[in-house]
Amino acid sequence: MATAAPARSVERHGATRGGGARSKSVAPGLRRPAPTPARARPAANHDGSSDSCRVRVAIRLRPKNAEELAHGDDFDSCVELQPESKRLKLKKNNWSSESYKFDEVFSENASQKRIYEVVAQPVSVLEGYNGTVMAYGQTGTGKTYTVGRLGKDDPSERGIMVRALEHILSSMSFETDRVAISYLQLYLESVQDLLAPEKTNIPIVEDPKTGEVSLPGAAIVEIKDLEHAFQILEIGEANRHAANTKMNTESSRSHAILTIHLQRSSRIKEETSSSFSNDVQDIVPDDLPLVLKSKLLIVDLAGSERIDKSGSEGHMIEEAKFINLSLTSLGKCINALAENSPHIPIRDSKLTRMLRDSFGGTARTSLIVTIGPSARHYSETSSTIMFGQRAMKVVNTIKLKEEVDFEILYKKMEREVDQLTSELERQQKLRQSEKMLWNKKLEEYEMSFRDLKKTSNMQIETLENEKHQLESAVRKLAHDLAEEKGQKTLLYEQITHVEKLLNETKQQQLENLSRTKILDDTSKQHEKETGELLRQLEEERRCSASYKDRLSVLERQLCDAQSSFQESNVRALEAELSKANEEFTSQVQSLKEKISKLVSEKELIYDELKSTKEKVQQEIRQRQDLEDQILRLKQSGSDNFVEESKTSFGMVRSGSGLGNASYLSKSGKLREVPSSQRGTISKIFEEVGLSNVLALLKSEDLDVQIHAVKVVANLAAEDINQERIVEEGGLDALLSLLETSENTTIHRVTAGAVANLAMNGSNQGMIMNKGGARLLANVASKTDDPQTLRMVAGAIANLCGNEKLHFMLKQDGGIKALLGMFRTGHNDVIAQIARGIANFAKCESRVISQGMYFSIWHRKGKSLLIEDGVLTWMVANSNRFSASTRRHIELAFCHLAQNEDNTCDIIASGGIKELLRISRESPREDTRNLARKALDSNPAFLKEVQ
Ligand code: ADP
Ligand code: MG
Repeated sequence: MATAAPARSVERHGATRGGGARSKSVAPGLRRPAPTPARARPAANHDGSSDSCRVRVAIRLRPKNAEELAHGDDFDSCVELQPESKRLKLKKNNWSSESYKFDEVFSENASQKRIYEVVAQPVSVLEGYNGTVMAYGQTGTGKTYTVGRLGKDDPSERGIMVRALEHILSSMSFETDRVAISYLQLYLESVQDLLAPEKTNIPIVEDPKTGEVSLPGAAIVEIKDLEHAFQILEIGEANRHAANTKMNTESSRSHAILTIHLQRSSRIKEETSSSFSNDVQDIVPDDLPLVLKSKLLIVDLAGSERIDKSGSEGHMIEEAKFINLSLTSLGKCINALAENSPHIPIRDSKLTRMLRDSFGGTARTSLIVTIGPSARHYSETSSTIMFGQRAMKVVNTIKLKEEVDFEILYKKMEREVDQLTSELERQQKLRQSEKMLWNKKLEEYEMSFRDLKKTSNMQIETLENEKHQLESAVRKLAHDLAEEKGQKTLLYEQITHVEKLLNETKQQQLENLSRTKILDDTSKQHEKETGELLRQLEEERRCSASYKDRLSVLERQLCDAQSSFQESNVRALEAELSKANEEFTSQVQSLKEKISKLVSEKELIYDELKSTKEKVQQEIRQRQDLEDQILRLKQSGSDNFVEESKTSFGMVRSGSGLGNASYLSKSGKLREVPSSQRGTISKIFEEVGLSNVLALLKSEDLDVQIHAVKVVANLAAEDINQERIVEEGGLDALLSLLETSENTTIHRVTAGAVANLAMNGSNQGMIMNKGGARLLANVASKTDDPQTLRMVAGAIANLCGNEKLHFMLKQDGGIKALLGMFRTGHNDVIAQIARGIANFAKCESRVISQGMYFSIWHRKGKSLLIEDGVLTWMVANSNRFSASTRRHIELAFCHLAQNEDNTCDIIASGGIKELLRISRESPREDTRNLARKALDSNPAFLKEVQ
């Protein structure tokens, strides 16, 4: 059991879906019939093509019952049917009759099936329209037979209720559609439920908005199949019979109303949704679930006979009044509707209220009017026919009973909402995770952005710093460039100035050269004069000698005269002598003065020459300085000046070569004497003669001696003069000077001359034999003059280079003297000492390597140098002094080490360490090799080294 839920009605105007024009929506309920044209075309109304639908009325004539058949002519039929013209002829008597046209006229032979098909089936609610099938007629004319006959045993007997349910059940879908029934009885204006008899006086409810009538208190039973329908209808019938029995009445006194509720699913979209408000449209889906909710009312009315005819009394009268009330009201309503009356008294009875949709409402309505044939009931039959005639004038406006299926819609939307909610949640979750991801990424990006910013800031800072640095560098460069330009200009100016100076210097040099030449010439002239004077001097000397001879003769004569002549003569002679002597003395004096003057002049010239040479030297140095300066300037300047300056330097250099006056070089060898000087000396040598020059060495005049020694020393520097000087007694004279002279200059120059002569191998023996070494040692012991000592050391060093003289040299104290000169500490002297030692050691080593021992000059055994303490000195001083000195000492070490006899002394003196050092560190490879060779070849050394 279920109760009908109130539903929002969606009414579609029009006869059928999808066809025909639709009428304007009119509220259901009390409505006026359609305008006349609609009523004028009744035939067209029921085919569903029009929204206006007239109530269709059919007449059914009951067959004569047994009674009527029994009475025969007394009860002739007053009714004559003309089915072909759908007319009924009602005979009042044999001469008076009325003809009425109906929608259908059924004779007494009409089958139940045909009645259903023609009257009820067109009212089918399957299309979604409400429908009403109502039987009207006098009691016993077959209303119940037509409408409510169950015909369970004989299907042909089945009435409209059963056939309608059968038709609906066979047409509907049990999956989507529903059919339910309620079965009510209206008796004495009380609605009773025939399916639930306990429910009486059920109220009728009308929807104030739609006017829809419902009876919520009534039971509605859903029907599953025909069998079920039969059961329910049987229950209803039984209840109706029981109620009538209980109330001591007959079924003909009550109205029975079967309502078939049909609900069918439908799918209509746009047309439907457009009828919603905007708010609703927003939420209503396009495929709106729609439902057709239609009702079919099958009404079996109480008999329409008059009360007076029923013969009732008391309660019956009351009953008839009520029966009449509903029927009267129905008649009044039909009349009002038929006459288009402004007032339809629907509310006068419950029946009219319940049937408000059937007449003048939205339902399709068919009325089956049952009549009996008997003339006895002529008036009842006539009024019944008139009722039918009036009902035919009632026009309904049918409406499709379509509603939105909110239940399905709700479920669907609930499902969709669920889906959307879950989808939303899923999306939210997704968004959340995406948001987290993006946040994380954002953080990462921000972090990397910060890092990047930091890095780029640092880079910008660095770049800016670099930029500033570069800018300052550029500024500095620009400044430097400007300075460079200035300097360059200055350099150009300087170069120009220097070149100018150079030119001037050149000019001056040329002048100097010419002056030198003049001086040279003057010097030559003077030398010539000197030679002349010397010759004169010689002559004077010869004169002097002759004078001396003459004097001695005179003295002898005087002595003789003293004894023989008179004293006066003596005096005269003495006076003469004295005069002659004075004369001679003055002559000698004047000569001496002349010589002295000449010598001083010569010295002056020499000095001048010297100063000129120094000046020239100075100029050369200046020029070289200038050249260097120019070179430096030009190197610092553009390369374009290089070639030019080289050329000019070349020109300047070509003028160099004027020598110095040193007789000995540091190495002990004679330097090349300048050509001009050599020329002068050789001229002196040629013009004066070697013997004269040598004779001057013996001059009593010191200056003469000095100059003569200088000349000899210079001559001795030339190889070709050395032997000749010795041969002509020069060596003797020089050695004599060394021995006798006390003059330092004499000592120095003489030692130099001896040193030069000692360069010659054949002279060395002579020098030694004549005691030269002893004399040199003597000089060395007496002076501290470094230049003298240098000459002496040089001479001895040269003598050291002759192995035959070694023994004698040692004997004469030469080695000791050599070593003794170390006391001066003068580098030039020490260089000569080292050279002498190296010479000595080298010669010794050569003798040993050649295996030749000269018993006279040399002996086998340890070095003579060692006895005089040379080795000790070497060890103490090996690594001092100048490079050449060191090299000589190193060489001496190497040579001494070659002699096995020196081994013990070398080891004892610590010389082995020096040897080792020399073998590793000596700047000269040959020396290193020599040291190594000495070390490697001597087992004692090797042992020491290890
Ligand atoms: P009502 O309901 O109008 O009072 P009923 O339906 O009860 O009349 O009919 C009275 C009697 O007439 C019943 O016995 C019924 O069987 C019979 N009857 C009515 N109409 C016909 C008909 N068309 N054919 C045969 N019998 C009928
Ligand atoms: Mg009946």
